[in-house]
Amino acid sequence: MTWTPRVASTLKAATVHHTAGSNSYAAADVPGILRGIYRYHAVTLGWGDIGYNALVDKYGRIWEGRAGGLAQPVVGAHAGGFNTYTFGVSMLGNYDVVPTTPAMINSVSSIIGWKLGLHNVDPYGSAVLTSGGTNKYAAGTAVRLPAIFAHRDTKSTACPGKYGVAKMGEIRARAFGYDMAESYVRALYQDMMGRGADATGLRNWTTLLSGEPVAARSRRASRTARNTAGW
Ligand SMILES: [Zn+2]
Repeated sequence: MTWTPRVASTLKAATVHHTAGSNSYAAADVPGILRGIYRYHAVTLGWGDIGYNALVDKYGRIWEGRAGGLAQPVVGAHAGGFNTYTFGVSMLGNYDVVPTTPAMINSVSSIIGWKLGLHNVDPYGSAVLTSGGTNKYAAGTAVRLPAIFAHRDTKSTACPGKYGVAKMGEIRARAFGYDMAESYVRALYQDMMGRGADATGLRNWTTLLSGEPVAARSRRASRTARNTAGW
């Protein structure tokens, strides 16, 4: 795969999504579900990688989606027309049919609070973004959006589901009140994209996921390698 991460000049907002997949997964199922999303986004849809910048499961675990550096304003493929300058976080499951979990909302809020904080974006603020074209806003339309907005704010979609939408206020409040150390977010973060910069791709990824704890290896080294070499 020759896709290379594209990094924007800054970050202006965060987008909340759901994956609209199964809610009945167990903790151990998540890596497999994420591999399925990877395969669908990267291969079937041709997006080169997972579209979301980060994913959060119902247990509150945070997983990196699109590679390129979690602390960087990597341009995802999550909110068509509004991908540049936004950080897309997706909740694993279908939150149109079941409520979100407190652990998940806490983690969604934490990583958004941390991420927006890197760019001095107020979680209660707003951003003006120019649409690249969606079924809600024609290309070129300047749209003022909350700094933390739901995917359905930019496109006619159920995403992130009615139970997800109901939590937007709480997510903003928690992100605003975010007072945890960066190390806490990093402790939650699972470097699932820690694949080597080689062609073995998924197999290597699987090995990493089922092997040693993330904290035990050099995440920075693997990220630098894949950033420079692609995969
Ligand atoms: Zn979405």
